[in-house]
Amino acid sequence: MGGLAIAPAPAILPAVRVETDIEGGKIEVIAATDPGAIRLAILPDGENPRFRQWFCFALRGVRGARCEVAIENAGACTWAKAFAGYDVCASYDGVAWFRVPSRLGDDGALRFTFASKRDGVRFAYFAPWTSDRLAAQVQRARRSRRGEVAILGATPLGAPFPMLRFGRLDDVGASVFVIAQQHPGEPMAGWFVEGVVDRLLRTDRVARAVLGSATIAIVPRMNPDGVALGNHRTNAAGLDLNRQWLEPDPRAPEVAMVREAMTRRGVDFFLDVHGDEMIPHVFLQGAEGIPLRTDRHAALEAGFAAAMLAATPDFQTTHDYGRDAPGKANLAIAANWVAQTFDCLSLTLEMPFKDHAERPDPKRAWSPERSKALGGALVEALATCLPSLR
Ligand SMILES: [Zn+2]
Repeated sequence: MGGLAIAPAPAILPAVRVETDIEGGKIEVIAATDPGAIRLAILPDGENPRFRQWFCFALRGVRGARCEVAIENAGACTWAKAFAGYDVCASYDGVAWFRVPSRLGDDGALRFTFASKRDGVRFAYFAPWTSDRLAAQVQRARRSRRGEVAILGATPLGAPFPMLRFGRLDDVGASVFVIAQQHPGEPMAGWFVEGVVDRLLRTDRVARAVLGSATIAIVPRMNPDGVALGNHRTNAAGLDLNRQWLEPDPRAPEVAMVREAMTRRGVDFFLDVHGDEMIPHVFLQGAEGIPLRTDRHAALEAGFAAAMLAATPDFQTTHDYGRDAPGKANLAIAANWVAQTFDCLSLTLEMPFKDHAERPDPKRAWSPERSKALGGALVEALATCLPSLR
């Protein structure tokens, strides 16, 4: 025994790897052998190359390395200017996210430098809201005495399509619908939903008032297939679901399933939750251009905006997309179709990808935490507005 000399293993520097086998992972690698010159490109939505914006990837083998990353085609993406004044989101653990100062160059490349303290680090357009977190919200609704889960069907790729319900499960009282992530590359909408559920399940006066007087139906992820594919805007068939509400294409059953649930219960309040690539503010869009528009709609919108202003300093009413001219609304957009069909308060909510102009945060910018807090503010605004909805 003994005597076998084992030569020490040569010190091998691990190679840098760009990996996309994480949820929502998507990026094209042009070159990545040298951490000082990592060259990447953003890929289009699978079935619809008009949309190219979402990215998500991990760098591995980078402990102690100073990574110089260039996303070379940022300036050729769908919302190219969205990358000006935008900082990339980063995380070591996929839970705590922070921003890395980034710069859109004249050549259209978005560049950033990152000195990694660990072997692996993730980067994304915005902190992904994962399927684990979605599953946790489903479980919370199932376990709550004031909640339940309806599986409305399955997506074209076979994913279950859950709708959470809280409050008046006997369908007495007002009917509230909140939907999120019609656009899969806007994960702040998922974080928002988590904040809504957090606030509803607190045992205080506000939660009791809302749960006691309304049924709150929440579709936390309208576009599970798009999320799974790493799409920014569209579902597995390449369709923008927020242009499918008037006459849903058979390849957009996600919309048809929710329309059916709405028709069964009726709708008194609808909120469609999104992220906006360009505008560094939280804002609401109403349904002022629908044929059915009345002064009552305008008063309900103004009342809800005032309640949101009272509930959170992150909301404002100065910056938005502008108003549709009377009768000119696109009824294929969810909030317009719902307002026209159910004659109710119906709104689109947008959160920024960039930092928040009124209350900037240089470390995290607009973040999962603030998206969740905004979800809580929705419940507080609902407590104020529910009595006047019907
Ligand atoms: Zn959107």
